[in-house]
Amino acid sequence: MIPGARLIILGRQGAGKGTQCVRLSRHYVVPHISTGDMLRAAVREGTELGLIAKEVIDTGGLVGDDTMIGIVDERLGKSDASSRGYILDGFPRTVTQAEALAGITAERPIHVVIDLDVPREIVVERISSRRVCRDCGTNYTSSGDDPRPWICDVCGGDVAQRGDDTPEAVNRRLDLYESQTAPLIEYYGQRGQLVVVNGVGHPDNVFKRLTEVVESRR
Ligand code: AMP
Repeated sequence: MIPGARLIILGRQGAGKGTQCVRLSRHYVVPHISTGDMLRAAVREGTELGLIAKEVIDTGGLVGDDTMIGIVDERLGKSDASSRGYILDGFPRTVTQAEALAGITAERPIHVVIDLDVPREIVVERISSRRVCRDCGTNYTSSGDDPRPWICDVCGGDVAQRGDDTPEAVNRRLDLYESQTAPLIEYYGQRGQLVVVNGVGHPDNVFKRLTEVVESRR
């Protein structure tokens, strides 16, 4: 175990980021901070943030930088993150968010930023068969012959397709990824913080590549 790892995992939606982040967070016993999960929880709870986020998420857009920076600033200030470290998944998604994060983490900088690299054609295919537990966020792959109801092995919650995994919303998200998030690869590359990990292959092999990078950087 590596205490106090502070990681960012970048990558296209559908690159298997969520599953790998859940696995890394169990392996290193650090919180998995997924801004998408936080927003979906706010939508379920009907909070003010949830009301703002719902339409944006459903149409595959991006929630405003100020809102996202506020949420993450608050979350990283909690004691589990400040003492144990964290895995950030889905944040930052814009250079503005990355610049704000550099300020938030000035005293305890991020150890490594990993770009989990999976080509666009492969993620479109993966997303269409992706199913997610509504309660704990565990990802599953549909075989086309799904159990009904589909109960999560981890927490007993409902497993379903995400409302924003429609082809239109997926393509919009991927376009936004290229225009807004891909520039972060250069941003972190220039700062010597980036490692690109091949995200294609069996999940166990991808996980092994990720842990090798984390261990080499700590
Ligand atoms: P994800 O689960 O990471 O794919 O996030 C689902 C949706 O939540 C995204 O398509 C965005 O609409 C929104 N979202 C999550 N994280 C961010 C962020 N850092 N900035 C803006 N919008 C976000």
